[in-house]
This record gives sequence, C-alpha cells and structure tokens, in this order.
Amino acid sequence: MTTIVWFRQDLRLHDHPALLSAAASGAIIPVYVLDNEGPGEWRIGGAQRWWLHHSLATLDASLREKGSRLILRQGPAAATLLALAEETGADAIHTIRHYEPWWRAAEAAIGEGLCLHEGGHLRPPESVTTASGGRFRIFSAFFRSLSAMLPPEPPCGPPDVLTAPERWPASDDLADWNLLPTRPNWASGFEEWTPGEAGARAALETFADAIRHYSTGRNMPSEEGTSRLSPHLHHGEFSPRQVWHKLSDGGEGGAAFRRELAWRDFTAGLILALPDYARENGRRQFDRLPWREAPADLKAWQQGRTGYPIVDAGMRQLWATGWMHNRVRMITASFLVKHLLVDWREGERWFWDTLVDADYGNNSVNWQWVAGTGIDANMFGRIMAPLSQSEKFEAGDYIRRWVPELRGVSDATIHDPDEAGCRPADYPPKIIGHREARERALAAGRKVR
Ligand code: FAD
Repeated sequence: MTTIVWFRQDLRLHDHPALLSAAASGAIIPVYVLDNEGPGEWRIGGAQRWWLHHSLATLDASLREKGSRLILRQGPAAATLLALAEETGADAIHTIRHYEPWWRAAEAAIGEGLCLHEGGHLRPPESVTTASGGRFRIFSAFFRSLSAMLPPEPPCGPPDVLTAPERWPASDDLADWNLLPTRPNWASGFEEWTPGEAGARAALETFADAIRHYSTGRNMPSEEGTSRLSPHLHHGEFSPRQVWHKLSDGGEGGAAFRRELAWRDFTAGLILALPDYARENGRRQFDRLPWREAPADLKAWQQGRTGYPIVDAGMRQLWATGWMHNRVRMITASFLVKHLLVDWREGERWFWDTLVDADYGNNSVNWQWVAGTGIDANMFGRIMAPLSQSEKFEAGDYIRRWVPELRGVSDATIHDPDEAGCRPADYPPKIIGHREARERALAAGRKVR
C-alpha cells in the first residue's frame, strides 16, 4: 500500500501525526505542492518564498536521511494531488489540517481519499466554543476556555522508518521554482534566520534559556525580549505542542508566553468562521469609512520615511529582515490606518509580502484589531501616539540600529527630533503632525457611527 503525505505549513518530521500514520501503513510519498492559483491574492509572498525555499531543502535532506525524499509539484493543489495519486496508485492522502480558506477548498475538492489529522494548533479551533456553542469574539474569553483544555497532548517523535515506494514519481527541481530573489538580492539581511526543523529547534533552545525575562522584555524593541519563533511556527517547523511542552514552566515569563502562543489558535478559529477576514471589515459599518487614496504616503510608510523614527525603524527592520517586533507592528499599523488614514488592507498586503511569518489568520486579525474595524471590541477612535510609545518603551537603541540618519541623536531627542529641532538634514520631516492626524482620523471615524 502506498500513501501520499501532503506537507503544507507543517515542514517537519517530529510530532507530525499525518506522517506517522501514513508511515505506519506502508510506503509513503512525501509531497509539497506549490499552488499559485488557489490562494489568489494570498499566494505566498516574496519574503516567505525565501523561507520556503530553505525549509523545503532541509525537509528533503531530513527525509533522505531516512531513505525517503520530498516530491515537488506545482499546480492547483487538489488536482495536482489527485493526479499524483492516480499516477502512483496511492490510495490515500494524509495531511495536517489547516484553516486558510484556500486550503479548506482544496481539502473539500480532494474529498474521500483525504485523511485529515490535527497538529497545527494547541486544540482544534472549532472545539473551543462559548457555553452555548458559539464562537468567541474576544481573545481573553477564548483563552479562558482554551486554558481549561490544556496542556495539549505530549508531542510524539519522528517515525522510526520511512518506506520508499517501488518507484519514485518525478519531482520538480527546487531551484526551478525561483523562490529566491535574483537581482537585487533584497534578502541579504535574512541570513540571521535558519529556516528548517533543526534551526527551529535551536531557536527554541535559545529562547528556553531566556523565557523568564519574557514578560518584562517583550514590549521593548531595543531588546531581544521575544522568542522570534513566529516564522518557524508559521511554517510548522515544530508544532505548537512541542513549543508548549518545551516551555511549560518559566515562571511568569512562561505563562505570558503561552498566552501569546494561544493567539494563533484564536485567529485560526476566527478565519474558520469568517474566511474573508483579510478582505472584509469585521464590522461592516466600516465599509463607509472615507479612507484616503494616498499612494505617496503609503510609499513613505513602506520605505520607512515618515519622519516618525519609531515607525521608520520598524518599517526598515521589516524590509531588511522580514520580521518586525510586535509592539512596533502595532505602532506602524496604527500609524498607517489612523495617522495616514490609509485602508488597513493596504498594510495587510504589504506585511503579507514582506514578513517571513506572514500568516493569513494572524495578519488579518491583528490588522483589523489595530484598525478597530474587527469583530472584537477595539475602537477605531483608539489612536496610538507613536512618539510617546517610542519613549515609553525606550526605543532609542532600536531606532539608532535601523535608521542610520539618527545614529548621532541622543536618547532625549531621538523619539521626536523634529520637535527638538535636531533633525538631521537627511532625515525627512514628519509627514503629518500628530494632533492634526488624530483629528482627521476622529472626524473620519464619526462618519461611520
Ligand atoms: P512572541 O512574543 O515570542 O510570541 C510567540 C508566538 O505567539 C509568536 O511566534 C506567534 O506565533 C504567537 N503570537 C504572539 N502574538 C500574537 C498575536 N498578536 N497574534 C497572533 N499570534 C501571536 N504574527 C504572525 O505570526 N504572522 C503575521 O502575519 C502577523 N501579522 C501581524 C500584523 C500586525 C499588524 C500585528 C500587530 C501583529 C501581527 N502578528 C503576526 C502578531 C505578532 O506581532 C507576531 O506573532 C510576533 O511579533 C512574532 O514574534 P515572536 O515570535 O518573537 O513573538
């Protein structure tokens, strides 16, 4: 008997129930399908393509160590897999469930021969419900309910043996997929990452030593206070339950971290219920909000040239490394939506293309949360003040690192060099004043009521 194992955002051998189950039944054909059509405008973005290339290469190497290999195919996922099953005589396709709308459509299109396994979340998102069986709109209530179902089951190891089929089907060559940038090589700063299962485990070990400081350090962009596990989690290079059990103590820091980890489960449940969440306002009255068409402002934001140092530092960190600190994601997102009054979907798409951890649920839910357009209780009228945020979270060193024009500016004036009269000539003036921007946003918000 031959079985296909369909890898998606679960590029690992450890704690992979679909792989384990298929491996126990006989010969397996591990496959990854690059589907540029099914996801439509959410096809894998540029930064993630870089990550995917390296992660697929390491997965293939790990499979080869066990006498197997990764078959690469390109095309609409369901049709490609069904054709591969026909070609190889495979009688089942095993995979871990994912909740993005295009994955669910592909799962439905494959139909009968598909065996779905859990493994991408702490608990199946649809199993966490209100007392009356409804879905949660607010994370804190969701987390209370999820916590009652935790800890998750202990993770399992990799399969001992992988049986090869009698004949391997043809595979694309990874290099031909052109996932890496050519010229210019905008990913040269991504070298700080080590995609793949071994890199993920090393990052987890490093963070385990630092977790006690998480609750105090996580809001400070100048420190390495967060885990930086997000791209490994998104690509499934370890499972969330591996992470949970590895970090199951760690005092207050550990508890704070596990709460953040649960956000992934919350956003998965939300996109399961509202699959168009990256496209549509959670509260439809925001369809009336008079967003500005402001391509020059959008570009200044994307390039980190708004004249607000904390915003510019964040946007440049994103471009250079494919990642941005969470506190700064909130500040930069709020700045685009409230200060520049540009539709949150423009920001969501930019993040989609530039983040190595770009994730349909996490990205859309957080954008709508910051924008105040989502189904949760956050208000559009809640406007973050970037300059005081920068000061409060002591972002001086972070700014100096990412905005070289401001390297010579002191801690006292770096958050707002314009106001202090010490703005270097090569750093842009503020694109708009804070008070003016705030009033404009509040006036726009009033149109929605
Ligand atoms: P840690 O603080 O160490 O958290 C551990 C893990 O918990 C993260 O890796 C992540 O998987 C999860 N997590 C933490 N916070 C959140 C959150 N608010 N929502 C969902 N999961 C969370 N995260 C993504 O993984 N992909 C995205 O595309 C994404 N887009 C975002 C867009 C905006 C506008 C904002 C404000 C946040 C976004 N986040 C996204 C959430 C969060 O910023 C990142 O998960 C976090 O910064 C990743 O860094 P870390 O691994 O060091 O986080």
